[in-house]
Formats: sequence, C-alpha cells, structure tokens
Amino acid sequence: MDIQMCDLKRQYQKIKDEIDTAIQGVIDSTAFIKGKEVNLFQDELASYLNVKHVIGCGNGTDALQIALMALNLKPGDEVITPDFTFIATVEVVALLGLTPVLVDVDPLTFTMDVSKLEEAITTNTKAIIPVHLFGQCANMDEITRIAQKNNIHVIEDTAQALGANYYHADGRVSKAGTIGTIGTTSFFPSKNLGCYGDGGALFTNDDALAAEIRSIANHGMIVRYHHDRIGVNSRLDTIQAAILRVKLKYLDSYNKARITAADSYDYLLKGCSKLVTPKRANWSSHIFHQYTLKLVETDRNKVQNKLAEKGIPSMIYYPISLHSQKAFEPYKIYNSKLFNTSELLANSVLSLPMHTELTSDEVKFITDSLLEALNC
Ligand SMILES: *Cc1c(COP(=O)(O)O)cnc(C)c1O
Repeated sequence: MDIQMCDLKRQYQKIKDEIDTAIQGVIDSTAFIKGKEVNLFQDELASYLNVKHVIGCGNGTDALQIALMALNLKPGDEVITPDFTFIATVEVVALLGLTPVLVDVDPLTFTMDVSKLEEAITTNTKAIIPVHLFGQCANMDEITRIAQKNNIHVIEDTAQALGANYYHADGRVSKAGTIGTIGTTSFFPSKNLGCYGDGGALFTNDDALAAEIRSIANHGMIVRYHHDRIGVNSRLDTIQAAILRVKLKYLDSYNKARITAADSYDYLLKGCSKLVTPKRANWSSHIFHQYTLKLVETDRNKVQNKLAEKGIPSMIYYPISLHSQKAFEPYKIYNSKLFNTSELLANSVLSLPMHTELTSDEVKFITDSLLEALNC
C-alpha cells in the first residue's frame, strides 16, 4: 500500500490523456499568457458557481490581497479573520497596512465562532474574512446578518471549500464563495480543485467591483499603458487554466469521493473515546479538503509516530494558532484568553490522509492502525 496525504499521481493517471492534450494544445498555440483557455475557464467556473464574475489570478494569497485592495481599505482599517486558519488569510491584511483582528473559532466546526464576532467589531472594522475551513462553510447567515447590520464587507476565503454548498435558513442554496461581497479561492495542487502549479481566482456578483479587481490584477490598468491606480501583476497561466477546465468537470465526483472516504472514516472510528470525528454543520455540505480529528488527552506525537511506522502519513493543520505566531508579535492587541478554542485545537487536531483516490482497503488499514495506536 502506498498511502499519501494527498495522492495527485493516481488522480493524474486516470485523466492523463485529457490533461496531456490540454497542455499540448496551449504549447502548440504558444498563447501562454491570456490565452483563450483563461476566459473559457473563468466562464465555466462562473456558471458552475452561479456567480456573475470569476477573475483568475496568480494564487489564493494574491486573490485575498486583491480583494482587500479592491475594497479601497486604508491603513488603520480593521479586518476580522479567524485565529485558526492558514497564515495567508491574515498575512495579506498586515501586508497592506491594515489591522488584523482575530476571532476564536467554534470547537465543533473549527470555523469562525460567530458568537464572538460582534464584540470584535469597532467603528474601524471594514471587512470580515470568514474561512471555509477543511471543506465546510462558516456560518454565513449569521456573518452576513452581522456584517450588513454594521455595514461591513465580507470576503469569503474559499481556498479549502470550492464546490461546497451553503444551505441558507430561508431554503436558498449557494455555492461557497458566492455569498459575500467577494469570494476568493486557490488552485494550489492539493486543493479540492487543484492545478499543476500555482493559481487562484476571485468571485463577485458586483460589476463595478469585478472591473476594479480585473484592473488591480493587471497593473491597475484597463486601457493598455494607462495606469489608473496601483495594482499588481497576478495572472492565471493559460496552461493552468487548460488543466483546470479538464478538472472542473470532475470536481463534483472528486468531492463525492472525499465524502465517501470521510463517511468510512466516521463509521470505522465510531465509539473510540480517545478521538472526536469532524462535525458536519447543518448549514453546509462538507467536502473534506481535510479529514481532521481531535485527539482527547493523547500524546499526539506518539500516535503520529505509530502511524508513520506503518507507512501512514498524518499532518497537523495547524500546530500554532495565528495570535501566537512570531510574525504577529508586534500586534500586541491579542489577549490569549480570547483564543481558548484555537489553542486547544492547535494542540489536539490530527488530519488523516484525504484525497480523491483513497480506497476502502486503505481507509480500513488507516483506521485499524489508528485505533491500535490509541488502544481503542
Ligand atoms: C491554500 C490557502 C490559501 C492560499 O492559497 P495559495 O494559492 O497557496 O496562495 C489561503 N487561504 C487558505 C485557507 C488556504 O488553505
């Protein structure tokens, strides 16, 4: 058995002919930048997500930065993000001279704890960046309600949840990333929709904002060599767009394969009191970018070592919550008492192998080995 955290090799082998043809087509055309595949992919993703505009860019971190730039925020403006996420979400806030304000997360879904959101809002708060962590949406109904009440923008970081559904209390269903002012995503190879290098995109239903985003991503210009504002150079490569066009057709079946593996994990790990399997929120589908457990009063290192001895990889997403990162020491606005849950998670989470090619034999071997390591 060759078990990977994320097995891109087996996935590629199944679609090799389509991918190779798509890549060769771009090379034959030599339209490496702004080739026709980029617009075609943007249109296809927009129709999949049911959103008006999809704008490709260089990566998911750029997408977040461009989103904040498009909202015209000024130094001193505050942006709220969860304390438990990948660094990119809050890094771009600081990079633009804006003030990051961190909020603790919910112990069951690991997404922003909306009961602590209002107390973090001040007159300087201009945006909230909920993160749809590990494959399921944050509580967008509540975040939207609080944001509208306070006249604050919402940027949805959808890097880990592309294709997830959000179920509104009123019965509507939206794709993750299409509910807030702007949605952003990453096509990093291991994401649910991954390309073969770096890539990212922004989504919005607002025509004026879409024009602004396109301009910022392209050196602040609309008419060539007329630079209306300071922008960046952030593009989705044509080759990556061609690969993504192929893989978008499989996104729903890929997400289904992840859910099937997660269902088996849940079932096979049921009843072990040394772990808590991931909670599925009733407002979102869960497309399992990661399958992340909480270990209960267990030496996590020892468990990881025992799994590794059997050739089973495991990862800790994330071992240090953001308020404790050295890079954020200058922002001494944080009181660690505010972050009980994210600190607890940083010390107890464990992610098991999760990808589109996991077989039931592999899942069984992983869960048997984990239960043995836990004496369960
Ligand atoms: C991967 C990721 C990003 C950044 O995407 P890149 O394409 O690697 O820049 C941002 N936010 C979250 C939550 C991510 O998981």
